[in-house]
Amino acid sequence: MSKILISSCLLGLNTRYDGKNKLNEKLVELARNKQIVFVCPEQLSGLSTPREPAEIEAGKSSKDVLEGNARVITISGNTQTKEFLIGAQKTLDLCKSLDIKVAILKENSPSCASNNVYDGTFKGGKIPGTGVVAELLKQNGITVYNEDNYPLSLFDSTKQI
Ligand code: SF4
Repeated sequence: MSKILISSCLLGLNTRYDGKNKLNEKLVELARNKQIVFVCPEQLSGLSTPREPAEIEAGKSSKDVLEGNARVITISGNTQTKEFLIGAQKTLDLCKSLDIKVAILKENSPSCASNNVYDGTFKGGKIPGTGVVAELLKQNGITVYNEDNYPLSLFDSTKQI
């Protein structure tokens, strides 16, 4: 195992739409002195921080977004589909260029979710599904975990810096 990609908000960077983070102290401790790469795909896309909350439109999936059949919309109704696709592609490019095969990404996010994602109603409901980034990484052979289901052994086999 060479390196692990981790959502930057999980490591305490204030990259979330609300300008805050989702610090996961256990992950920070595990990642200490290891070859990890942190990324916020929504910031990579050029979106500002803070920014409006966005969700994949109700009744659609990240696969639909990647295939051009669904939008990512903000709470006020603006479309951010293009930005989310840019962020996903840049994240995949990063993984390819650094030979990253595994990621630990923030659950529920319209970008980073790997199991459950907000349902597009902006009411806090979640449904089984993936975010746009996690879906694209999975489609390209990268294993995606969330902050609760990654195996600890991942860090045993990750090189030290
Ligand atoms: S969940 Fe993903 S896109 Fe959202 S702030 Fe965290 S790293 Fe950025």
